[in-house]
Amino acid sequence: RYRLFTLRKQHLKQSTAKNRKIQKILVANRGEIAIRVFRAANELDIRTVAIYTEQDAQHMHRQKADEAYLVGRGLPPVAAYLNSSEIIDVAKQNNVDAIHPGYGFLSEHVDFAQACVDADIKFIGPSPSIINKMGNKTEARNTAIAAGVPVVPGSKDAISSYEEAYEFCEEHGFPVILKAAFGGGGRGMRVVTAADELPKLFETATSEAQTAFGNGSLFIEKYIEQPRHIEVQILGDLYNNVVHLYERDCSVQRRHQKIIEVAPAFNLDPDLRERLTSDAVRLCQYVNYENAGTVEFLIDKDQRHYFIEVNPRLQVEHTITEEITGVDIVQSQIRIAEGASLKDLDLTQEKILPRGSAIQCRLTTEDPALNFQPDIGRLEVFRLGEGMGIRIDSASGFAGAIISPHYDSLLAKVISYSTSYNQAIRKMLRSLSECRIRGVMTNISFLKNVLTHPQFNAGIIHTRFIDDNPELFK
Ligand code: ADP
Repeated sequence: RYRLFTLRKQHLKQSTAKNRKIQKILVANRGEIAIRVFRAANELDIRTVAIYTEQDAQHMHRQKADEAYLVGRGLPPVAAYLNSSEIIDVAKQNNVDAIHPGYGFLSEHVDFAQACVDADIKFIGPSPSIINKMGNKTEARNTAIAAGVPVVPGSKDAISSYEEAYEFCEEHGFPVILKAAFGGGGRGMRVVTAADELPKLFETATSEAQTAFGNGSLFIEKYIEQPRHIEVQILGDLYNNVVHLYERDCSVQRRHQKIIEVAPAFNLDPDLRERLTSDAVRLCQYVNYENAGTVEFLIDKDQRHYFIEVNPRLQVEHTITEEITGVDIVQSQIRIAEGASLKDLDLTQEKILPRGSAIQCRLTTEDPALNFQPDIGRLEVFRLGEGMGIRIDSASGFAGAIISPHYDSLLAKVISYSTSYNQAIRKMLRSLSECRIRGVMTNISFLKNVLTHPQFNAGIIHTRFIDDNPELFK
């Protein structure tokens, strides 16, 4: 009770400081997500600022903001978007009062969130302490345990040698999965099926984690066979109110990376849905979660659910949740950062009702015939299939655009919405059939193969679906 009292007092204090209408938002990102945020801000009558690199000088996100500034002169293309001190300088020089980090790049960098706070610029996302807690996967796991949320059996802390991993396997058996404690994007993970593989895989996972995340520390979990990946979208305000916006099924994955997402999860047992959403809310309340976030779970064949991680940021697949709930998640993020309560936003749990079904396909320049290598070149023709129930979030798509090797291979997110799962599939297929893209290879034929697969149509999908069905690559 005392803790609650002090927390409330703290929040009240913060809220007077935080309760300030945002005038100008800088997006510390590029591509479709930068444009997504500009659009949300524009509709809220907020001025928008883009940053772009030399490599992105012709890129569309630069044109879609009210102001745009070149950053990272002489820096490598990705480093330029990670150069937080320069980005904050640009913000200060141009009277920016809030920064949205998008996803990837600086979105989960505690130091960046803290630097924004120090510069008296609102960071549109959770507080630095929450990012810190969730960014470390072992700490996030331990927090979930403390909040009474089931986790995959795993090591409590980081493990420092393969011998230590071996001890875990002796107790829990194979297969296991080694994971980067500070990882993301499916990197730094290795599935280990037998003891003799451990030393080598421990070494490669450590070095991959070190290169990708600047920290080689690993932990170990029991590998769940053929799980569904289901995640719950969360919104929390600054006053410890948390709601969920139902779930997304992201089981269609390749190399632990999502390709097609569905909301709500098709064929999900209502009791399981209830457990997932209530556990997600409870965990977020436990840490006083602020702003948008996602709580990710794996579901095993016996319908048991296990927490795997929290993503303290906007996700690529937030769009399908917006389609089924009618809630603009980015605008909610902005309003929450301004100090609005969920109630002010009319976002009380009983008012959030999912309707229909939505699917998102990540249309990329990856060529399935060439082991999904990203293709590059000049887009000669670029036409997507629009029409009722189709939403397209894209940045690179226009005839003449140069697809460079510097950034990710996403060409467009194609989102279909309809009354039922099968209708949403039909709509997506119709849209993809209308696409005409020349100049680079795409994954459209692969996406269509998944969408027409009987297993996908029946909603019987687990994370090994793509690996187990090589005919999808044809
Ligand atoms: P990242 O942060 O890199 O995305 P996650 O922990 O979210 O990593 O896991 C990504 C994917 O890896 C999951 O969706 C799932 O397919 C697979 N995965 C992670 N942990 C396990 C596990 N314990 N058992 C089986 N698959 C797992």
